[in-house]
Amino acid sequence: MRTGEQYVEGIKERRHAKIYVMGKQVTDVTANLFLKPSVLSYKATFDAAFQEDTRDLARAFSPFINEEVNRFVHIHQGPQDLVAKVKLLRRLSHKTGTCFQRCVGWDALNTLYIVTGKMAKRGDGVYRERFLQYLEYVQRRDLALAGAMTDVKGVRTLRPSEQPNPDAYVRVVEERDDGIVVSGAKANITGIAVVDEVVVLPTRAMTEQDAAYAVSFAIPLDTPGVVVVVGRQINDARRLEGGDIDGLPYMAHHEGLIIFNNVFVPWERVFLYKDWRWTGPLVEIFSSYHRQGYGGCKSGLGDVIIGAASELAKAIGVENRPQIGEKLAEMVFLNESMYSAGLAASWEAVKLLDEGGWWVDPMYANVTKHLVARFPYEISRLAHDIAGGIVGTAPSEFDLKNEEIRALLEKYLQGVPEIPAEERLRLLRLLENVSVSVGFLIESVHGAGSPAAQKIMFSRLYDFEKAGEIAKSLSRIKVTIKWPKTPEPRRPSESEKI
Ligand code: SF4
Repeated sequence: MRTGEQYVEGIKERRHAKIYVMGKQVTDVTANLFLKPSVLSYKATFDAAFQEDTRDLARAFSPFINEEVNRFVHIHQGPQDLVAKVKLLRRLSHKTGTCFQRCVGWDALNTLYIVTGKMAKRGDGVYRERFLQYLEYVQRRDLALAGAMTDVKGVRTLRPSEQPNPDAYVRVVEERDDGIVVSGAKANITGIAVVDEVVVLPTRAMTEQDAAYAVSFAIPLDTPGVVVVVGRQINDARRLEGGDIDGLPYMAHHEGLIIFNNVFVPWERVFLYKDWRWTGPLVEIFSSYHRQGYGGCKSGLGDVIIGAASELAKAIGVENRPQIGEKLAEMVFLNESMYSAGLAASWEAVKLLDEGGWWVDPMYANVTKHLVARFPYEISRLAHDIAGGIVGTAPSEFDLKNEEIRALLEKYLQGVPEIPAEERLRLLRLLENVSVSVGFLIESVHGAGSPAAQKIMFSRLYDFEKAGEIAKSLSRIKVTIKWPKTPEPRRPSESEKI
């Protein structure tokens, strides 16, 4: 297991990665003001394995290398591991106040473990061997991984093979004796500039015509031909100001576009090659894993927002007003609902392989994500209501540092005498930065698939016929019910059927 410092040192050595931020190439992301907060946030996942309060949650025993590993590179060995994931993510949100970016690569590892295991059962064991070797490599080095799934997609109504731009989805352009050459781009890739390696997965179920697009592989970020263009976020320029109140410069996350310009991938790093039949289950398994995780990280950010709103109510002396209590209670209900669904998805885990392959309950994982796509907006709205308009209009920290006006601001920004104006300003800025962030709002809607994708899963997984039989029998309509063993009207997912 690596310490946080060792992770940072490792990233410094990765000099050749072609990374662009606001039009300029960045050679050392750890020294770049824009990306340093992302490095620190990612680093928190390494630190967690050595800190007293998170040590047990952040470590797990790996049967693949017979050693303890950081949980972020662990293959789940049962429901308790999936529960630990949700709890760890909630706690790490408390320590970072943002997305810590390491879960996508982790979910990609668990997905490939199951999919290559199923391929091996069907007689295609080569991918399994390669993947297990890669897993050992990752676990022994405690690598920082990004997961890259979302293609740029071009014309949304056309399949990958029908696109006017054939690179709108990542595809194989050449097959060689020693490997393949890939071309294309993946968008919205969390933490992409601050990782050692990227694990690439197909973004959708493919057909036979799309076989060249059915590809999964892993490569170091500094592989020739890889270009990363980091995206902008709300308030991101505040990181460049050198303050410590306005822009949360200590922790942040980023997303970026990763472009594969005819990139060579050796065979030992290819985990799916043109076998399009596996793409549907792969997408289903990955997306459910990541949707479950949101129950942890987003409820953790919800705690930060609830805490800030409650302290801000105290700062202006309204904490005992019934309407404030009612709003805070509503926020708690919304927040704990997201967390409960994530835990339910974990406790109801299913085993997809004889040797393990523990997967979340897909219905509850999708319910978790659907709640997350809605509730953070309501939690933020209630927090803004409690904090008052000043959450969007407060003076800058630099005004507070200006000798001429500091005394005036201290006098006029203060509420109750016991709480200094600077404390109130710090809480307001924290609330502004977390509650209006990409991480708590936009990522909550679109990360791990937008709300329509979860609705599709609800329709697939819910057994309407069975529910209809139940209703008919209670209506005294003649019907013969074959009662299933479990009370939920449920159809098996694609991944459980194969
Ligand atoms: Fe992890 Fe949450 Fe960030 Fe996804 S959004 S990488 S689950 S912290």
